[in-house]
Amino acid sequence: MDRRRLLTLLAAGTAATLLGNGDAHGDPFPFGTGSDGGLLPPSVLPPDPRTPIGPGTLTSLPGDGNHLALTIDDGASSQTVGALIDFARNTGTRFTFFVTAYYPSWTDHLGSLRPLVDSGQIQLGNHSWDHPDLTRLPAGAVADQIDRAKAFLWNTFGTDGTPYYRPPYGRHNAMVDQVAADSGYSVPVMWTGDLNDVSTVINEGMLLDAARRWFNGQAIVLGHANRPTIGTIYGQLTDIVRERNLTMVTLNDVLIPPR
Ligand SMILES: [Zn+2]
Repeated sequence: MDRRRLLTLLAAGTAATLLGNGDAHGDPFPFGTGSDGGLLPPSVLPPDPRTPIGPGTLTSLPGDGNHLALTIDDGASSQTVGALIDFARNTGTRFTFFVTAYYPSWTDHLGSLRPLVDSGQIQLGNHSWDHPDLTRLPAGAVADQIDRAKAFLWNTFGTDGTPYYRPPYGRHNAMVDQVAADSGYSVPVMWTGDLNDVSTVINEGMLLDAARRWFNGQAIVLGHANRPTIGTIYGQLTDIVRERNLTMVTLNDVLIPPR
């Protein structure tokens, strides 16, 4: 085989592998293989099979099981976003960031975050451009919030997070949901439990108490990359997950989104 043909084949194989691993709308995961075709360590294996869902609000993962979807919002603290990326890299933990796109944190950590997004270990969703209460805006401004964040995600990470979005403050209504759906975000993602980590008085004990309360099978748990606490206790968070025999997942790991 000549060298040019070999390079073409290698490029095609790499592209197919990237699509298979990173595109939520493509074929199911090439279960058990990494982007280099080798076996992934057990901690980063996505679970199978996935459950189809329709459009509409999601507050927990469907059915019975031991999956835990940790979802981390905002990104006001670049240091905390970095700590959570370390959490993923060091432990193999899978989770979802709902990105408020105007925070510099997301481009600050592009080099370390992008590979985790490409592999599917970390999923990104839309949490608006700069976090207004969307229910207090006219439809055109809601569309602008959603679409600016969508463009940022696509241009920066090669994914736009569709169909998952989280309305700032969890505030949405029929108008907001319709505008979001028109931009491809047909699944507003709420939560089963909240780590309450945006409080100015949050400390490690309070955050661990909240984790013990809400880290349960099929829960969607809300946290924030705004204060440093969550980045300092990930060892203890992992202990709770292990003690309870839970598997941390992204939404794409366990759900087949509506077409
Ligand atoms: Zn938020």
